[in-house]
Amino acid sequence: MHFSRLVRLLMSENMKITRIEILLVEIPYVHPFRIALAVMDRARNLVVRIHESQGLIGVGEGSPAPFVTGELPEGTLLAASEYAGFLLGRDPREIQACLSNMEKILCMNPATRCAFDLALHDLVARLAGLPLYSLLGGTRRVLQSNRTLGIDGPEAMQVQARELVAGGARILKIKVGTSLDEDLACIRAVRQAVGPGVLLRVDANQAWDEPTAHAALVAMAAEGIQFCEQPLPAWNEAGLRRLREHSPVPLMADESVFDSHDAFRIACSGAVDYLNIKLGKAGGLLEANRIQTVAAAAGLGCMLGGMSESMIGVSAAAHLMCASTAIGLADLDSPFHFTENPVQGGVDFQPDGRVTLPEGPGHGADLKPEWLERSRRITID
Ligand code: MG
Repeated sequence: MHFSRLVRLLMSENMKITRIEILLVEIPYVHPFRIALAVMDRARNLVVRIHESQGLIGVGEGSPAPFVTGELPEGTLLAASEYAGFLLGRDPREIQACLSNMEKILCMNPATRCAFDLALHDLVARLAGLPLYSLLGGTRRVLQSNRTLGIDGPEAMQVQARELVAGGARILKIKVGTSLDEDLACIRAVRQAVGPGVLLRVDANQAWDEPTAHAALVAMAAEGIQFCEQPLPAWNEAGLRRLREHSPVPLMADESVFDSHDAFRIACSGAVDYLNIKLGKAGGLLEANRIQTVAAAAGLGCMLGGMSESMIGVSAAAHLMCASTAIGLADLDSPFHFTENPVQGGVDFQPDGRVTLPEGPGHGADLKPEWLERSRRITID
């Protein structure tokens, strides 16, 4: 059945992109979320909705994080408006050609590219009548994400860790990066609160220098940490390689790896054990797929992470992970920070971190009508 749908898709003619909606969606956080790089009190995400001549719509999202991708939310609106003009009138099935063109036009705008990339993949999957994971070649529909604790001091993080574990979570990611003493106090407090049966991950978001990172890794090893993410500044790959030689805890690169070129370079240098792939850094599914191919060839493990995506970006990421044999870890819980969910459809994300994909076509997620109305919107047609 899938094959016949694909044949019908490929045989049909006169299909083109007729209208593109570009929206800036602001979603307040329940509590300010602190990491070593920033304190966030809301998400301000770019949503792109691509309409084609048969009446179907593909939806994509990019979450610009100025402290990681260098993009400001208003800048993504301008960049998206610029690129939308190139896409209008194109056949959405020419997805590789459209996205390759976009990589040239918006080379330093990965979150903006991500919104278009996800919308085009969603649209092609909807045209084919297939769930996105199926279009990408996958069969499974369930994955397990961690839940994340922002920097909040040992006592508050202990309380939050207990609440998350009481709600069923069995994998927690702990944000650190204030001072060595406080970082270790937070890690120890969380371990003490949750006991030995919960998997703990640590993310320093570039906060440490080499001596501090070495001391932190040696000390945190006693707490049974699965891996430590980005202990050093993104530029310091040589330091990361030196650190890994003596680290009792496996290391993961996040801010050091945006695309497949970064992945290849860091794989050759032997600086890490894992890569954190994010659609918002990579510019979408096309480049994320290239990264996981490099990682698989180099024998590196992969996690699929996120910035501040709503259930649109999270759903697309979940479809990719369920179609992948190279990505075994997930950190996709950003929508739990929000005061409300602006999205209808998409994945079912339980508080314990269990994510189940929908069975309908595409990734299944779109903005709720009231959020379409209330968000700043530019239409290109
Ligand atoms: Mg990270």
